[in-house]
Amino acid sequence: MASVPTNFYDLTRDALVTLTTSWGFSPVHALRLWAYVYLSGQESWANMPDLPARFRAKAENEITFGRLNVATEQLSNDGFTHKYLLSLTDQRRIETVLMRYTGRVTACISSQVGCAMGCVFCATGQMGFIRHLTPGEIVAQAMHVDAILRGTPKGAALAEPKSSSPHSRHERLRNIVLMGMGEPLHNYDSVMTAIDILRDPTGLALGAKKITLSTVGVVPGIIRLADEARPVHLAVSLHGATQEERAALVPVAKKWPLAELMDACRYYIQKRERRIFYEWTLIEGKNDSAENAHAVGRLLHGQLAQVNLIPLNPTAGYDGGPTGREAAHRFQKILSEHGLPSTVRQRRGIDIAAGCGQLATAR
Ligand code: SAH
Ligand code: SF4
Repeated sequence: MASVPTNFYDLTRDALVTLTTSWGFSPVHALRLWAYVYLSGQESWANMPDLPARFRAKAENEITFGRLNVATEQLSNDGFTHKYLLSLTDQRRIETVLMRYTGRVTACISSQVGCAMGCVFCATGQMGFIRHLTPGEIVAQAMHVDAILRGTPKGAALAEPKSSSPHSRHERLRNIVLMGMGEPLHNYDSVMTAIDILRDPTGLALGAKKITLSTVGVVPGIIRLADEARPVHLAVSLHGATQEERAALVPVAKKWPLAELMDACRYYIQKRERRIFYEWTLIEGKNDSAENAHAVGRLLHGQLAQVNLIPLNPTAGYDGGPTGREAAHRFQKILSEHGLPSTVRQRRGIDIAAGCGQLATAR
């Protein structure tokens, strides 16, 4: 019986070496194959340099490149946010977003199809959980964005931003946020394997401070991340500063209560000597009052923390609206009185429903 080919993007460099040495080849060939794919962005066996024909023939049978095809793409009106709905081999779809603003290029990638966590305002949460992504499906999203940045998009023509972009067409991917569909710490092992592949210095070589993982607050995952010295930034979605208020927006707070979450966060900061970014979706009249801001200040008192305020992107399944600019700045001012640095995230790309999962659920 023929074996199922391995997805190249599922493999760490060590795993690729192990696979090809098991076929009887020198590790040198695996390392050349690895560097060729990640440095050139190409997948053509025919053009692969410096590899014996016998190796190529074997690899061509045993390895596939699990690229993702573009089902839909949308460009925001300002031209700086490009959103892709990508098809997986089972025809499930995930979102990957390329953002070109604040002077840098960032890919926002997904970790699951749907999500089990059920945050009430989130389009992905409203879909429910469908399945985990494999490491290769996570890495392939980065390769998709990297290919676009190189000017060689697969599966779709690239529309250039309408306004002038300070970036050249040949920019490489340098920043990744795991803030697309899904809860990354619910898919821990695949996400960590993908991060190891993305960071490999002989591959895409993303720097230590260039990957940010955002979690809804999966406490065991935060503790594991603190214990394993994987250099990523951690963002924690807070949204409520009391157990009751948070649980109303984030149902998994019942499983991992706020007090336990704060213990895990303090442990992470102390162990990793890194700040945590807390995310706060600002919902008008719900969690954007002066009292809410003071409660955040008290809750995070003494922590090495920064708060990222994100005005809500309205979703079909939730009857709430975004906090206005003035109220957002009032909130921010109160946080600064508590010594907490914060940012208000620009709502760029709102015209293409840039909130996570909103393109996938629109179909
Ligand atoms: N599951 C992870 C990462 C994906 S969501 C997490 O929840 O952290 C990334 C961020 O977008 C989270 O802070 C989430 O609360 C926020 N978010 C989700 N839907 C949103 C919406 N409709 N408007 C604004 N922010 C939203
Ligand atoms: Fe899942 Fe994050 Fe959406 Fe919550 S906000 S449902 S954890 S993707």
